[in-house]
Amino acid sequence: MLPRTLYRLLSPAGNKGQLSIFIFHRVLLDADPLLPFEPSAEQFTWMARYFARTYNVLPLGEAVCRLQAGTLPAAAATITFDDGYADNFQVAWPILQRYALPATFFIATAFLNGGRMWNDDIIETVRVLPPGEFDLGALGLGTHNLSDTLSRIRCYQAVLGKLKYFEHSQRTDIARQIALRAGLPAASNLMMTRMELQTLMASGAEIGAHTHTHPILERLPDTLAYAEIEQGKCELESILGSRVHVFAYPNGAPKRDWSDRHATMVKQIGFEAAVTTEPRFAHVASAKIFQLPRFTPWDRSPLRFAARNLMELWRGRHASQGYPV
Ligand SMILES: [Zn+2]
Repeated sequence: MLPRTLYRLLSPAGNKGQLSIFIFHRVLLDADPLLPFEPSAEQFTWMARYFARTYNVLPLGEAVCRLQAGTLPAAAATITFDDGYADNFQVAWPILQRYALPATFFIATAFLNGGRMWNDDIIETVRVLPPGEFDLGALGLGTHNLSDTLSRIRCYQAVLGKLKYFEHSQRTDIARQIALRAGLPAASNLMMTRMELQTLMASGAEIGAHTHTHPILERLPDTLAYAEIEQGKCELESILGSRVHVFAYPNGAPKRDWSDRHATMVKQIGFEAAVTTEPRFAHVASAKIFQLPRFTPWDRSPLRFAARNLMELWRGRHASQGYPV
């Protein structure tokens, strides 16, 4: 099969290879018009089939060990999920299991058992509001006209874009106030329960940490950033009864969301590797294991998805040989 051969040429085994780390957040049971960027179960099924046929998929911990030892298999890949959404366990994991694919799930512990992240407070509010004006001017978040699905998507994207870089506790409080005012209950079933998380790990998934309350570390004083990273690890280890080795930076963009001093903290706290959202693949020779890049597969047709993955591998191979990309 041609793609498989090309992948192996572009990402050979051993110390000339690349590690393709993919990020997902949610896999929806049914497509949700308000969340067009999240794959449905049907879309994720062909993605999983493609991963199984094309890549050698490894859990992140094993991939990092082999990356360091120069023993990665050809076309090595890791599939990761951030945040701890319940659909990861209920929808994505059974599909992955059908294709015998391992995966790594990064969990923000504060939201287990009925929590809801601040961004979902906003999205779910925009979903339930009746058509008409949504005035957040007093909060500095603009006035929005809600009518069709597209206007609602534009509204929540604009509000999230502005709120994202507010001070962490202020952002959480404002989003919660907006949700409560719209009549959303404080509790939600969007995120995994502790029992689901335990079952996920018991059935073979790798679990990683993602802080406690998902702050942008670069926006926190160092003592609080350290405490957030440490608390996320300790709580997960207490829930799971086993050590957690890998970490994902919230939001994850280098310099803007985290910096080298956070990578040092992650190492000091006892992690063995960390992943970012820098959008490229990790080349073996240059890989920094506390700053591993990850790539979001956003194409929604199999052909484009395959073409983009191949293009990224080609870019990675080209860059590793010193050519401009
Ligand atoms: Zn996250």
